[in-house]
Amino acid sequence: MSDETKAAGEETFAFQAEIAQLMSLIINTFYSNKEIFLRELISNSSDALDKIRYQALTEPSELDTGKDLYIKITPNKADKTLTIMDTGIGMTKADLVNSLGTIAKSGTKAFMEALQAGADISMIGQFGVGFYSAFLAADRVVVTSKNNDDDCYQWESSAGGSFNIRPCVDPELTRGTKITLFMKEDQLEYLEERKIKEIVKKHSQFIGYPIKLVVEKEREKEVEDDEAEEEKPAEEEKKDKETTDDAEVEEAGAEKEDKKKTKKIKEKYLEDEELNKTKPIWTRNPDDISNEEYAEFYKSLSTDWEDHLAVKHFSVEGQLEFRALLFVPQRAPFDLFENKKSKNAIKLYVRRVFIMENCEELMPEYLNFIKGVVDSEDLPLNISREMLQQSKILKVIRKNLVKKCIQLFDEIAEDKDNFKKFYEQFSKNLKLGIHEDSTNRKKLADYLRYYTSTSGDEQVSLAEYVSRMKENQTAIYYITGESREVVNNSAFVERVKKRGFEVVYMVDPIDEYCVQQLKEYDGKKLVSVTKEGLELPESEDEKKKFEEDKVKYEDLCKVMKDILDKKVQKVLVSNRLESSPCCIVTSEYGWSANMERIMKAQALRDSSTMGYMSSKKNLEINPEHSIIKNLRDRIAADKDDKAAKDLIVLLFETSLLTSGFSLEEPQSHADRIFRMIKLGLDIGDEEDDAPAAGPSSASADVKVEGAEDDASRMEEVD
Ligand code: ADP
Repeated sequence: MSDETKAAGEETFAFQAEIAQLMSLIINTFYSNKEIFLRELISNSSDALDKIRYQALTEPSELDTGKDLYIKITPNKADKTLTIMDTGIGMTKADLVNSLGTIAKSGTKAFMEALQAGADISMIGQFGVGFYSAFLAADRVVVTSKNNDDDCYQWESSAGGSFNIRPCVDPELTRGTKITLFMKEDQLEYLEERKIKEIVKKHSQFIGYPIKLVVEKEREKEVEDDEAEEEKPAEEEKKDKETTDDAEVEEAGAEKEDKKKTKKIKEKYLEDEELNKTKPIWTRNPDDISNEEYAEFYKSLSTDWEDHLAVKHFSVEGQLEFRALLFVPQRAPFDLFENKKSKNAIKLYVRRVFIMENCEELMPEYLNFIKGVVDSEDLPLNISREMLQQSKILKVIRKNLVKKCIQLFDEIAEDKDNFKKFYEQFSKNLKLGIHEDSTNRKKLADYLRYYTSTSGDEQVSLAEYVSRMKENQTAIYYITGESREVVNNSAFVERVKKRGFEVVYMVDPIDEYCVQQLKEYDGKKLVSVTKEGLELPESEDEKKKFEEDKVKYEDLCKVMKDILDKKVQKVLVSNRLESSPCCIVTSEYGWSANMERIMKAQALRDSSTMGYMSSKKNLEINPEHSIIKNLRDRIAADKDDKAAKDLIVLLFETSLLTSGFSLEEPQSHADRIFRMIKLGLDIGDEEDDAPAAGPSSASADVKVEGAEDDASRMEEVD
């Protein structure tokens, strides 16, 4: 709109780029299931009503601008508009600008990516951008809104990259929001009463506020009839005859007399019809509720587009009374661990009155994927957030809910396929639960599933692991790492595997946290094969040989420790290696290599913990390996063998890599390798003496300078 045509006080804003992109995607994608726009707008209205209701708990005067909380849908066929109005919290001018166009949420981009990956537009609500679905059916949208803290403002857009904001006056809107959709020519069916009723029933029947539809009705009305007036004498004659009998007849006759002056005409009028009169589902008897009904309720509660995976509907009576309905979704939302406050988790009601959504006090964080409602008989209606935090009642409810969730998981676990689906989506939550919830840790550990060195493509439970432990085996062996492939090929598991023990592969970053707390399962200690203190059951002969090796390699260990100095804590003879010459083992309570990798990847962490927690490293050498044997002999012949020194550093750095660490100075490692390659290729250093042309010449010069003696130069690099 050009400046000249703008109304007074009108301003134009550009949509944030991603939002503009999303809108054109919504408008241009061929998509037939457009009806979901109504569900999204009703859901936004319901949220807005929740918000004002919640504010009014502590500030009752907020409702001075209107106590009736409802949603009203008004189709207008003449104007081809559909208006969805609510008496919710409304939006200030700043809210309109920010929420409807200039600040993109993480879901904006995530939703577009999901669409490209084949997601369905109807999933829009999950990504927190449901409002824009209005443009599925409308080519122009006007949002009029009044918040208690501001005057009334109007937002308007026909997409195309911009929207306008202007002050406005709307006497009907004392508080709340009115969204008027100017329907596309081919979308006029959404103005039909029948169609709207059908959609509301399908998607929004469980909304907790009345949804009123303005319907057009017809009634007969008596109007004064001028023509009848003229016929009056004849009619009156008739009446006189009838009234001769008794009083009753006379009365009827009197009515008739009135009618003589009037006639009936058909009159159209508007009436509000409430569309969602159903009783709250959780107050009903579970035996009377079909799974379809639960699914519909779940979808309206969660903005999910799929049915739930499992449901638990129960009531608790006694000292404390409440009813609850808990759902496990089929899929984790895209931002489960992104923003801590997951929306629409557990809604709290007190005696059927909605109090607040996402009541954090009701569920521990690890169960934030559970959706549902809790309706308490005992809490006061005017409860505030602060009171909730203190509430003993809430603590008891919470304990019960956690218990029921675990029962629900047990039920899911009865069906292997279902449990697999569940575990794929929510294993992180279960692991977080093991980390956080000491009371239920043992129980939650039953749900863990891992690949192991012998599991093949099926994940197994720790119980299965224990059931096939070897007779002489006392511990559960595990390794943490970046991926199944990496740990499977790791030097650490070689020996353990070869000795016939199964090794659990923990390759999810959260496993590191989980296993720190778990420590044992079914009385068996969990032992990391990459950490100090690994003791495999050994025969007397093996023990004897190990002790002999320790003596045999004492000198080499000492020399190696001197060379590596602070890089390692100890150099030891290993009992865990098979085909590798050496490996880096970390202390039992410090970080593993994998944990160090995870910690380094967390960009925002305080680097000071890096120092004191970072792994204490021991180098373990394989007494059976030819390299180690050879080194021992060389060191025995000459303690100051320079080439051997260099090889020891190279061995150490290579072990860092194969043990899952990263190198602090990859370049010096690379230089060592290049020298080895030259040796292998029989290339003398002279060949790099000639200054090379081009950008790399400078570094080539530096390398060659002062490099008369290979071994001494190698020392300098250290
Ligand atoms: P979501 O509702 O998931 O946050 P939407 O794109 O549907 O995402 O809405 C964006 C924002 O606009 C909402 O978070 C809310 O702040 C505001 N909003 C939308 N509709 C309404 C309404 N009817 N009343 C008040 N605020 C609303």
